[in-house]
Amino acid sequence: MSPLELSRNFNLIRTWRLSRQRLPSLQRLMPELAEQDIHLEALRQLPVTGKLEYRERAQEWLETNAALPHFMIRTGGTTGAPTLQWGYMPPYAPPPAPSGEEPRPLYLKAGDGRQGTVPHFPKDVGSLIAPLRDIEGYRIMTEILQTRYRFAGYEEQFSRLSIPLPAAKKLVHYILLNNIGVNNFGLREVHTNSSFVSRAWRRRIETVLQAKLIDHYGFTEIQTARAHECPSCGYYHFPDSIYPEVVDLRGNLLSAPHANGRLLVTRLLEENDCAMPVLRFDSGDIAEIGVPCAFTGETGFKPWGKIDHSIGIDGGAAGDLYPVRYGDIQDAIDSSAVVARIDNIRHSLVTLTEGDTFPKWRLLPCPDAANQARLEIEMLFDPRLFTDEWAQFEADLRARLDANNPDYRRAIDHAGFHLHIAGLPPGSLSDRDVMKS
Ligand SMILES: [Zn+2]
Repeated sequence: MSPLELSRNFNLIRTWRLSRQRLPSLQRLMPELAEQDIHLEALRQLPVTGKLEYRERAQEWLETNAALPHFMIRTGGTTGAPTLQWGYMPPYAPPPAPSGEEPRPLYLKAGDGRQGTVPHFPKDVGSLIAPLRDIEGYRIMTEILQTRYRFAGYEEQFSRLSIPLPAAKKLVHYILLNNIGVNNFGLREVHTNSSFVSRAWRRRIETVLQAKLIDHYGFTEIQTARAHECPSCGYYHFPDSIYPEVVDLRGNLLSAPHANGRLLVTRLLEENDCAMPVLRFDSGDIAEIGVPCAFTGETGFKPWGKIDHSIGIDGGAAGDLYPVRYGDIQDAIDSSAVVARIDNIRHSLVTLTEGDTFPKWRLLPCPDAANQARLEIEMLFDPRLFTDEWAQFEADLRARLDANNPDYRRAIDHAGFHLHIAGLPPGSLSDRDVMKS
């Protein structure tokens, strides 16, 4: 067991006790166990918590623990629906500066435009919140990034930018559109929050902003469930306050490097932590298991988008397979110039600027044909007129699927999987049907 796993296991023992105390309905599912019997295997005896069960438990939590210090209703997440959040959200704590002599970094946080410009300098971190209400917000942000500041003990320029991924794409587009030179920027790291970054966009953001992109993954239901992209292995790791599991279609735990499965997370509680216990919460996302990491001592994972936007099949002797993941498609078509694009504000999560667009596509299982799926992509031009171009596009797409996801070839060889790829004329898909970037 790695130190990280040992620490999680220790936290699980406490969480087991607190969960029984705070959610009496769990006592039936969670027997009182001796400390040495509480570990990942015991956790795996519990059922998965879906979004519905999460809401029911939250209600029980509220009723059972009347003196709750905090709850909050917020909109957002992938659905935009209001969600209730219980418990304490710790403030973001950046790592301390390496030495007393070294200036502290300046953080620029790009907001969604609703909070306005709020210069915010807490004790141990220099951060500024930039609004992204409209195109003017992007102009202001590029000015801030070019400016040199004189705050005693801090760097002269903003070196770290924290920004939602769709806004990062818009910033890049704004810079290219307006020929803004980035040589005067002092950026070193761009931190994004997303459930999937395609390689094309990662390259473009890193090249244009001349900074390293570090992605963070999480979900609205559990604020502390933040996984960070690892500089050592390239996969994502959760802190020791989160117990992750990756399971196949039948709920079996997966551990082989590069296996694809559903990501479950358990929030582990501190002794004085008032947060609601959340056990084996179904993230709804597909995760690829990483390779053993020398830095953390565990294998991380990489998110590939929503399970609902992916295809999972029974691969027989090859086990359960995910031959087409949301990210495979997004990765393949993000930089394609012949794919139609959408500029619906709900898909961009932040604000609308010209040129902020996302490929229009959807992936569907074939209800009457097992191990077949249908991918529909809206093209910029009618594929019935541009047949050669369409054939080339389809061939490229299949080649990229084959190159990027080993499950695609395995599903074809072991389960006769077939993906129908349909190019649709412009305007065929309604915005509602389109996969969100
Ligand atoms: Zn790592």
